[in-house]
Amino acid sequence: MPYSLSVVVATPAHSGLRAALSYRSESALAPGTLVRVPLGKREVLGVVWDPPEAAVPAGIEERSVIATLDELPPLAAAWRRLVDFAAGYYQRGLGEVALAALPPQLRDLDPVQLARRLKRRKPDLSAAQGTAESGPALTPQQQAVLAGIAGTDADPGKPYLLFGATGSGKTEVYLQATARALAADPQAQILILVPEINLTPQLLSRFVERFGVGQVVAMHSGLTPPQRLASWLAAHAALARIVLGTRMAVFASIPNLRLIVVDEEHDPSYKQQEGARYSARDLAVLRGRLQAAPVVLGSATPSLESWQASETGRYQRLAMPERVGAGVLPEVRLVDMNLQPKRTLLAPALLEAIAKRVALGEQSLIFLNRRGYAPVLACTACDWKSDCPHCSAFRVFHKIDRTLRCHHCGLGERVPRACPACGNVDIVPVGRGTEQLEEQIAALLGSVNAPGEDGQTRPVRVARIDADTTRTKGSLEAQLAQVHAGNVDVLVGTQMVTKGHDFRRITLVAAVNPDSALYSSDFRAPERLFSLLMQAAGRAGRDAVQAGSSQMWVQTWNPHHELFEALRRHDFPAFAAAQLKEREAAGMPPFAFQALVRAEARTQAAALAWLQAARDGAEGLAPAGQVFIYAPVPMGLQRVANVERAQLLVESASRPALQRFLASWQEVLHGLREPGLIRWAVDVDPLAV
Ligand code: ADP
Ligand code: ZN
Ligand code: ZN
Repeated sequence: MPYSLSVVVATPAHSGLRAALSYRSESALAPGTLVRVPLGKREVLGVVWDPPEAAVPAGIEERSVIATLDELPPLAAAWRRLVDFAAGYYQRGLGEVALAALPPQLRDLDPVQLARRLKRRKPDLSAAQGTAESGPALTPQQQAVLAGIAGTDADPGKPYLLFGATGSGKTEVYLQATARALAADPQAQILILVPEINLTPQLLSRFVERFGVGQVVAMHSGLTPPQRLASWLAAHAALARIVLGTRMAVFASIPNLRLIVVDEEHDPSYKQQEGARYSARDLAVLRGRLQAAPVVLGSATPSLESWQASETGRYQRLAMPERVGAGVLPEVRLVDMNLQPKRTLLAPALLEAIAKRVALGEQSLIFLNRRGYAPVLACTACDWKSDCPHCSAFRVFHKIDRTLRCHHCGLGERVPRACPACGNVDIVPVGRGTEQLEEQIAALLGSVNAPGEDGQTRPVRVARIDADTTRTKGSLEAQLAQVHAGNVDVLVGTQMVTKGHDFRRITLVAAVNPDSALYSSDFRAPERLFSLLMQAAGRAGRDAVQAGSSQMWVQTWNPHHELFEALRRHDFPAFAAAQLKEREAAGMPPFAFQALVRAEARTQAAALAWLQAARDGAEGLAPAGQVFIYAPVPMGLQRVANVERAQLLVESASRPALQRFLASWQEVLHGLREPGLIRWAVDVDPLAV
C-alpha cells in the first residue's frame, strides 16, 4: 500500500503559502527525510515534513517520490520547528526557507554521489574529549560568568546576555564554556555565530588551536559549494563538534546542540536583508529553547532589544566590566569643532597627539565612515553636482583612478575635464572620504619621524583599509597583517577596521566626523553610533603594558550631547537607559513591534499606489486600535538603478497581534496587482526604518 507524504520543496517565493506538497511513496518515510521529487518538469530536493501523512487534494494526481537520500539521517524535529517558525514569523514560504537553509550542492547530488561524499569524511573522534587545552587561568569575573552559565539545569534553554567590555576576555569565556559543554557530554555540539566573514578566520583559528582541526567546521558565504556541503554534512552527522559561522549557520543541522554563542550580538549583520529577512540572533534564542541549549549573547554594547530583555529578566545578564590584566579602557577626549579654525581636518591637539604616538613607535587608528575621496564633486560656477543619473544619490569622487562612482548602482565614469553643464574647468570635491583623509594625514605628518632600526628614524607610514583597498581576496588579511607586524604607524579606515580585531599596538583611536548619525531620521542611528564608537575605542590599548595611556578622540560639533557624555564615561547602561526612556515615551521598539512592507516599481507613483492598495486591503483585518498602519512614503534613498522605492510601516504594541495581522494580510498582498510594480517584500523587525 503506497503512502501519501507531505514534502516541502523550494517553490517560488510567493507561491509558498501552500506549505507542503503531497507525494506518493512505496514506504513510510520519517519526517525530516531528504527526498528527490518531481516538480513540474524538474526533479528537485525536498524534505518530508510533518505530519507526514498528507491529505491529497481531490482531483490532483499524486506523483511519486523519485529517490530517498537514506544515507543521511533525517533532519531533526527541532530543526523542522525552527524552519516552521522562521517561515511563519518572517512571512515567507516554508519550502523557500527550508531549502535555503540547506547547502546548495545538496540539491544537485543524487543518492550515489552523496554516499561518496559521506564516505570521504571519516569520523575523527580521536581527539574527542577532555582534550581541550585549558587555556589561561580565568579572571574572577570570567569565572563568575562561567559559573552563571553553568547554573542552567532548571532552565536549560535560557538566554544569557554577556555584557563584557572590549578586551574583558569574552572570547576566552566562549572557549571555556565550549570546553566544558564538550567535556560534559561526549556527543555535545556547539554553535558559535559571528557577524561577518572578516571576523571568522581569527575566531576560527582560536577554536581550532584550542580544540583541534578535526573538531571545528566553518559556515559562511565565503566557502565554495563543496566546502559548504562538507561542513554541513559534518555537522549534520555529528562528526564536527563545533560549528562556527555567520548568520546562515543558525540554520545548520546540529542534532546534539548543547550551547549557542552569538558574538557581538548587537551587530546589524545578523539580520538577513534578502528573501526571508530573519534575525539570526533572534532565531538563535528560539533555537536554544527548542534544543534546550543555553544561548550566550555577547557584546560590549548590546542591542537595546537584548538589553531591555536583560532588564526584565527574560535574559539573564552577566557582566564583565573590566579588561583582562592591568588593561584599562582608553581615556575619551571630545574635541569641540565649534572652537576650531574653519575647515579644520584634525584639531591641532589631536594631530600633536598622533605625532607623539608615532614618535613612540605606537599605532593610531583614524576612523571615518565614508570611503572615496569626496562624496560629491561640484562646479564652482553653476549648481552642477555629481548626481547619479540612475539613483537619488551623488556619485563619489575616487581620486586614485579619477572616477566618479555611484555606491548604489555601481555606475562609474571618468571625472569630466570641465563642468558638463557650463563648461567651467573649476570643479571641486566637497566633503571628505577616507581616501582624502589618508592623503591629508600623510601630508600633515610629513615632517614627523618614527623610530626605525638601529636607532635611526624613518618617515611615518600611513595606510588605509576600506572596501576599496580590500576588493581582492586575501587583501584584507594581508593589510591587517601589515598592521599587526607594526609596518603601519597611522591606519585610516571605515567601520571595517573598528570591529573585533585584536590590535596589540594601537594606543590612539580617533573618530573625525561622526555627527551625522545625530541628525538621522532613523531612530536606531544613535544606538548604532554609540556602539560603533565604543567598538572603535575598544581597539585602543588592548595591550596592558600601554593601556594606561591609551586614548579615544572624538571630533564633534555636539560635545555636550548625552551620547558623547556617556561615551566619555564608557557608560553603556546610562546611554541605554536614556535611549530606552525615549523609545518607551515614543512607543518605539523594543516597546513596540514593527514590520515594513517595501515596494519597488518603475515609477514612484506605482510603488505608492501598490502600498496604498495594501493599506486599504488591511481594513478590518486587525481589531481596532491593535495594529497601526502608516501611510506609504518614498524611501530615504528613493531611486536606485532606476527603480523607485517606497515603504509602509506597520506597528503594534503586541507582537502576537502584529503576527496575526501579518499572517491574515498575506493573501491580500499576494492578490494585489499594480502595473509597473517590480517586487515587494515584508520585513519583520526591520533594523532600518
Ligand atoms: P573580548 O572578546 O572581550 O574583546 P578577548 O577575549 O579578545 O576580549 O580578550 C582580550 C585579550 O585578553 C586577549 O588577548 C586574550 O587572549 C586575553 N585574555 C583573555 N582572558 C584571559 C585570561 N584569563 N588571562 C590572560 N589573558 C586573557
Ligand atoms: Zn558648471
Ligand atoms: Zn547610481
